[in-house]
Amino acid sequence: MIKERFDAIVVGAGPSGNAAAYTMAKEGLKVLQLERGEYPGSKNVQGAILYANALEKIIPDFREDAPLERHIIEQRLWTMDDASHVGMHYRSEDFNEEKPNRYTIIRAQFDKWFSRKVREAGVTLLCETTVTQLLRDTNGKIIGVRTDRGGGTAFADVVILGEGVNGLVGQRSGLRPELNPDSVALAVKEMHFLPREVIESRFNLKGNEGVVIEAMGTITAGMTGTGFLYTNQESISVGIGCIVSDFADNGTSPYALLEALKNHPSIKPLLANSECKEYAAHLIPEGGYYSIPELYGDGWLVVGDAGQFVNAVHREGSNLAMTTGRIAGETVVWLKRRRDEMSKANLAEYKRRLDETFVMKDLRKYKKIPDFLHGNKQVFGLYPKLFTDAAQTWFRVDGTDKRTKENEIFKSFRKGRTLPGLIGDAFKLARAWR
Ligand SMILES: Cc1cc2nc3c(=O)[nH]c(=O)nc-3n(C[C@H](O)[C@H](O)[C@H](O)COP(=O)(O)OP(=O)(O)OC[C@H]3O[C@@H](n4cnc5c(N)ncnc54)[C@H](O)[C@@H]3O)c2cc1C
Repeated sequence: MIKERFDAIVVGAGPSGNAAAYTMAKEGLKVLQLERGEYPGSKNVQGAILYANALEKIIPDFREDAPLERHIIEQRLWTMDDASHVGMHYRSEDFNEEKPNRYTIIRAQFDKWFSRKVREAGVTLLCETTVTQLLRDTNGKIIGVRTDRGGGTAFADVVILGEGVNGLVGQRSGLRPELNPDSVALAVKEMHFLPREVIESRFNLKGNEGVVIEAMGTITAGMTGTGFLYTNQESISVGIGCIVSDFADNGTSPYALLEALKNHPSIKPLLANSECKEYAAHLIPEGGYYSIPELYGDGWLVVGDAGQFVNAVHREGSNLAMTTGRIAGETVVWLKRRRDEMSKANLAEYKRRLDETFVMKDLRKYKKIPDFLHGNKQVFGLYPKLFTDAAQTWFRVDGTDKRTKENEIFKSFRKGRTLPGLIGDAFKLARAWR
């Protein structure tokens, strides 16, 4: 048992837990943070793109010493079939700005750095300590936690759960339901190492400029999911993820998908002669707005992936994690200053504040997208094939006149999907997107 009593206990030292712990400690609160991993980041997996804006609001001068890999100057969006891709690339010199907007990072290094800042702010961090249970008083209010360190307990006014997507503590304590396999993706990722000058010449980069590729199409074997490839200083992260229930129905293994992606003719040359040194797998909550559980109660708050805060359309998660963590921390500080209790009614302020941010606004805007994508598999198989076939028909110069080519493309779309089907898909997408 830890004898000291804390203002707050934070479960987890990922971006959400770190943001919450740092925000509270900076304002003088006594904070205990518990992390099951050997060190912060040892259990964590991400692509990874860091969105500067969310971190700037917590540590404004983070660029001075954070372990950043490359700032992203070029975004590629690819629609792929088995032999080709149709791409939209956006590259801009404007992204070579004084304070770049997005960076690639390596999570194990980034989490260690963030955790150092958290400890410097005054947080007591215990690693290799798994929270096994939430403790309640006779009225059901959460008053502390039990851990696997000899069954030791710790007590605080509020417990902030930043335990990640498969938050077992919250599930076991009945604060949220078990994960639904329809609304969580399983992603696998490898790190391929190459000399930095090889990466720079392959991707047309100089200095610390970076490129990221997001890809969809036949690479997911008809399942709902996407692939990615991100450039780091001396490595390339490549990965793919699909909805868990799709893997179960389809029978394809995540590893087989990743192998196929790496051997795709558009990807293989980018990884040529690299050395793979890391393989990781992790879940991503992709259910969106409708999968968000209860976020607060008597003596507790939920932040980050544990609250299902991921915007799968825009591939954003860590920024939602840091923002929800920061706002949870600010709410607790505000209540403390007013000498208010950490009751459910008072902690509702967390949700009120979140509603005003991009986090809830974006998730609300895209609330119908997860169902649309999961229920319309043609988006991941048929349409990418139709687009790549159309591109080939259009660009191949073979003596066929252009009107005949246009008719061929039109016919291939009609053959792949009936006209009402095409119109219906466009209509459903537009409605889900609004
Ligand atoms: C393959 C992949 C690629 C991704 N790419 C991106 C990207 O490019 N950009 C982006 O913004 N997001 C990306 N994400 C999402 C992003 O990683 C998450 O949204 C983010 O990590 C969530 O942070 P978190 O702190 O809520 O959870 P986590 O990072 O999962 O941290 C939770 C922490 O809690 C600890 N923990 C869990 N249970 C306990 C317990 N009982 N006791 C003590 N400690 C516990 C864990 O060990 C862990 O350290 C990606 C995710 C994956 C899997």
